[in-house]
Amino acid sequence: MDLQHWLGRATHAIQDWADTFGAYQPHPSLQVDDDRFAAAFEEFTGRLKDNYPFFHPHYAGQMLKPPHPAAVVGYLAAMLINPNNHALDGGPATAAMEREAVAQLAAMFGYDTHLGHLTTSGTIANLEALFVARELHPGRGVAHSADAHYTHGRMCHVLDMTSHPVRTDSRGRMDLDALEDLLCTGAVGTVVLTTGTTGLGAVDPVHEVLPLAERYGVRIHVDAAYGGFFTLLAGADGPEALSPEPWRAVAQADSIVVDPHKHGLQPYGCGAVLFRDPEVGRFYLHDSPYTYFTSAELHLGEISLECSRAGASAAALWLTFQLLPPTRDGLGQVLAAGRRAALKWAEMIEASELLELYQQPQLDIVTYFPAVDPATLTGIDAASARILADGMANPDPVFLSTLKAGREAFAARHPKITADADGARILRSVLMKPESEHHVEHLHDRIERLAKTG
Ligand SMILES: *Cc1c(COP(=O)(O)O)cnc(C)c1O
Repeated sequence: MDLQHWLGRATHAIQDWADTFGAYQPHPSLQVDDDRFAAAFEEFTGRLKDNYPFFHPHYAGQMLKPPHPAAVVGYLAAMLINPNNHALDGGPATAAMEREAVAQLAAMFGYDTHLGHLTTSGTIANLEALFVARELHPGRGVAHSADAHYTHGRMCHVLDMTSHPVRTDSRGRMDLDALEDLLCTGAVGTVVLTTGTTGLGAVDPVHEVLPLAERYGVRIHVDAAYGGFFTLLAGADGPEALSPEPWRAVAQADSIVVDPHKHGLQPYGCGAVLFRDPEVGRFYLHDSPYTYFTSAELHLGEISLECSRAGASAAALWLTFQLLPPTRDGLGQVLAAGRRAALKWAEMIEASELLELYQQPQLDIVTYFPAVDPATLTGIDAASARILADGMANPDPVFLSTLKAGREAFAARHPKITADADGARILRSVLMKPESEHHVEHLHDRIERLAKTG
């Protein structure tokens, strides 16, 4: 699809609709003349160049990429109306789109009942899930893996709940013995499992925690903000297949968070929270001094802690899902390519004399470090930092990110490396663009050459 063409069509479609309400004069206070706009626009587009090329396959750093053109057109068209999905009257069309897109997300995870809505971010979505967890288990805390997103510790603080980090195993997954020791104390009411940690893409063993949760009477919240859409590859054919057990078990979780603005091709401002039991809507009840005229069912604003939210976000997600639905043949193909890229690159790194694999990728995140002699954490840290900086400075640039790996985590994976520091920065590449599949040779080659010139 041609973005310029459809952006033009979008403005026309909305204008045609607007014209049906009759002509009127815009107020002079809002008038901007074209010459002044041109000058501001010139400066604006100049300033936007101060960015990293997230779209380019040689950007292999953080979890960043532009949205799909369908999402851009959907967002822009709806934004011209600017509906507010806080209430049905704020925009009936985008409220309906939100319900439909959320139902598609719930179906993707195998929920047969759900209550859910979009949020501004994974952070707010997790806050809502933990808020409901607190209401259901007052006085009890939250367990999450030590590698879980820092938002859990932070939101527990906001909610005045105690958070209990649980140690991880040598692949970055929650250690079940440590979890059970904690559950025995009765201090925990909710276990947060991460299916795809932000750093390593590690998938906690949801299927193995479910029986523990039942035994100890705790809730399960799955933070799939990053990894959620990988459920589409669970039990697939081909090298990109993921072992299905943890993903199938997600359908039994009490709540799930997923970020369409990470792997769902959306612009920022699109997270989602889903609850398996629709009855939890009662915890959101509030008296609004504003009256709405369509109140037969719960407004999205009545099941959300946030008030105003962009209807345009729902529009963008809905339109994207019409073309690339959250199914194995739809969005699944996009994730599969990134996953194959990660596996292919991991193989090349393992065969390399100059680079070492930190751990086998579980999703599409590759972690690695330069081989240094002598093999010490301080040496690895310095060499990783140098490659990160030199990579961006070169005429044929590559963009990577670093991840701080702690001393114990390093020792669990690479016991022969001398632990002369608390930890070391290693290199990390999130291969979330399907184009990466055809660029890992280039990336590998560039980084090997950077490692050699150390
Ligand atoms: C990104 C992420 C979050 C936070 O989500 P935001 O959308 O950045 O607010 C929480 N948990 C995990 C696992 C994440 O990857």
